Amino acid sequence: MLVLHHPATLDHCIIEILNGKVIPAYECPQRISTILNTLEVEGRHELRDTSKNRQNGEILSEEGPGQEGTWLSATTPVLTRRFIAESHDPGYVEYLKTIHHEWLSFLHTAISSPREPKDILALSRPPGHHCTTEMAGGYCYLNNSVLAVHALRHFHATGPGHDSVGAPPKIAILDLDFHHGNGTQDYFYRDPSVLYVSLHGKDEYPYYTGFEDEKGDGPGKGSTWNFPLSVRTSAEVYIATLRRAMGIISESKPTYLVVSLGFDTYRMDPLGSFAIDTEDYETIARTVSSDLSLKGVPAVILLEGGYVLEALGQNVGSFLRGGRRAELKDSEVKKNQRQ
Ligand SMILES: [Zn+2]
Repeated sequence: MLVLHHPATLDHCIIEILNGKVIPAYECPQRISTILNTLEVEGRHELRDTSKNRQNGEILSEEGPGQEGTWLSATTPVLTRRFIAESHDPGYVEYLKTIHHEWLSFLHTAISSPREPKDILALSRPPGHHCTTEMAGGYCYLNNSVLAVHALRHFHATGPGHDSVGAPPKIAILDLDFHHGNGTQDYFYRDPSVLYVSLHGKDEYPYYTGFEDEKGDGPGKGSTWNFPLSVRTSAEVYIATLRRAMGIISESKPTYLVVSLGFDTYRMDPLGSFAIDTEDYETIARTVSSDLSLKGVPAVILLEGGYVLEALGQNVGSFLRGGRRAELKDSEVKKNQRQ
């Protein structure tokens, strides 16, 4: 699988208050570095630093120079800013002064080869699915999956084989973070072109959303599906529920799949309470990737939570082993492995 990362995600150590104590935040740069270290040692996946992708910068700036706005860095690619503006309240975006200007660039790579769909995993940091149009939440400042949907729609209307006059493409979002993606659900709650399906901890953060009877509203009625699961849910129950979720996604016949992938479902996670082990992530990925009705549907997988540094790299590696076109050939592995 193609794994995209950006050096900006290795910045920003923060603190948080948890259980009345000030501690180094669980959401830390080492989350990304430990994943990269593990995957580099394995050598089985193509890792790409998107800050080195000059062609991407040119394409993202296709609307031409001189259109820079005032609310983000002047070097921020035009399309990146447009997607952010379309996905978030302008007043809220104004508040964000430290946005990294190339963080969205992975999307270009994900969607630039529609004839040969390529699944990608973007090591996005911080996570995004709790962010609404007007409010940050749970480490999330920008909603990565909402941005991905905007980018996919843009590509669908302008890319090779584009469909500029038809209806927006059907996009399914599968949210596998331990916590309910309230921001993502909220954004698409009335939108029939986006299916949102979430498996998450019952009565856990953010506490007030993620119930089974939240089904969407107006034209979006029936496009939201929540599967809240109890504390200490086993891998067997989780995967059986995931199969039901995949049935709903298959039935919607999506053109693109976006996966909000959290590893705070891991057994030892300090912010989750499921009983999922490292090897189970391979089965979880296989359950998603083996759905034949989704064959040929490009998948954009976005990192959400996951806070056990000692296991995070192995958990990601396990998930990638279950993915489509999961690994490089042995000859390529040798070339990739660290000397
Ligand atoms: Zn989470």
